[in-house]
Amino acid sequence: MAQELIISVSGVRGIIGENLSAAQAAEYGCAFGSFLKANGPGNKKLKVCLGRDSRPSGPMLEAAVSAGLCSVGVDVVTLGIVTTPTVGIMLRELECDGGVVITASHNPVPYNGIKLLLSNGIAPPPVMAQAIKQRFLDKDFSPVGSVSCGVVMRNQDANHVHVHKVLDIVQPETIAMKKYRVVLDSVNGAGGAAGKQLLDRLGCDVVAVNDEPTGLFAHEPEPTETNLQSLCEIVTEEQAVVGFAQDPDADRLAIVDEKGRYIGEEYTLALAARQIMSQQQGKAAANLSTSRMIDDIAQAVGAEVIRTPVGEANVAGAMIENRCIIGGEGNGGVIDLRVGPIRDSLVAMALVLQLMADTGKTISELIADVPSYAMLKEKYAANADQAQTIIHMAQAAWPSATINTSDGCRFDFEDSWVHLRVSNTEPVMRMITEASDRVTAQGYADTVEEIRKKVIG
Ligand code: MG
Repeated sequence: MAQELIISVSGVRGIIGENLSAAQAAEYGCAFGSFLKANGPGNKKLKVCLGRDSRPSGPMLEAAVSAGLCSVGVDVVTLGIVTTPTVGIMLRELECDGGVVITASHNPVPYNGIKLLLSNGIAPPPVMAQAIKQRFLDKDFSPVGSVSCGVVMRNQDANHVHVHKVLDIVQPETIAMKKYRVVLDSVNGAGGAAGKQLLDRLGCDVVAVNDEPTGLFAHEPEPTETNLQSLCEIVTEEQAVVGFAQDPDADRLAIVDEKGRYIGEEYTLALAARQIMSQQQGKAAANLSTSRMIDDIAQAVGAEVIRTPVGEANVAGAMIENRCIIGGEGNGGVIDLRVGPIRDSLVAMALVLQLMADTGKTISELIADVPSYAMLKEKYAANADQAQTIIHMAQAAWPSATINTSDGCRFDFEDSWVHLRVSNTEPVMRMITEASDRVTAQGYADTVEEIRKKVIG
């Protein structure tokens, strides 16, 4: 039997032809539109902005979600193939009441998904996400008659608007003077067009690879070291100063240095934070699983880092509340609120290039400036009760640790930490640990493994 459709805080995700169909997408559009109407001002026709990544199933889902929204009387502005952050930017630019992104992010081609955004550009908080899910499951829709149906309009300005917002947070002329040779790997996802436009405007000599938005991914789409070997080789062959890799919906960015070495996604936020914090005073925000490199960078300028539960909406929410000047997640997701409250690979590219231009340093020299840590990640099958028992036993094992229980449990030691958390979408527990050396990190991982064996066997 096909696996059930996954419905989480950030929307739905499934496999086309197995558990995600046009009919479901239409009903999800009905549910979202009905939810917005029930929570909206009531006296005006609502408008939702819709974009999609490049997957072949995108047009089908776009049409279905649009039909669902129109059927409950909500107008739709389609942006075509755009990055996820572009939708967040355009929905606010066009004063829409919500946004929809048709994407399965870094998942392989058979997958697709529908991600929802509220009028502030952020995913609905858990209570609202639950209300939308309930409407979808109960088919609690509010259809309208013929004359009140929504209409679909097309907007072609999205990339232009997005690129301009990013150019505004850097000094394009100082970057352009360097005439950087840059390789951009867009994995045939949604980020190629906007990415190239941005790099062109920054005066870069761009070598674009996998920049056709076919959705037929040129390599496994998650921007990890194993999946980016070809990019590493091209950077060396082309004698580029940096290689940038976007995931299919271009909210995440991974970096390859001038020697053709994959530096790891954790460095994307660290470098971006260093750039922003060298220019402005203010706080940063990162989720509990993000490297402490950002703490070192903030500490050097006397700034604070707010730690949040994992999830883009949590980081963005904390950034708005605390007026943070930079934030994001360790998976290569950088958020600058001046552009939008969404992780954005274009923001990350611009800030990294600005840092290179301001310091005159290469990526490998910039990396050498940041204290290095060893990070280990594990994933175990565990139900909610087992996960809770593991957390309690770990608390007993590490009584001296400073504890944060806002998302599972994070244990902080003097120069290392362990984060144990339960997945929102599957019965698994994740363990992430970081220490100044691999032996220490392995020690924490071994302790958790011993506890796990006692609990689960
Ligand atoms: Mg993504």
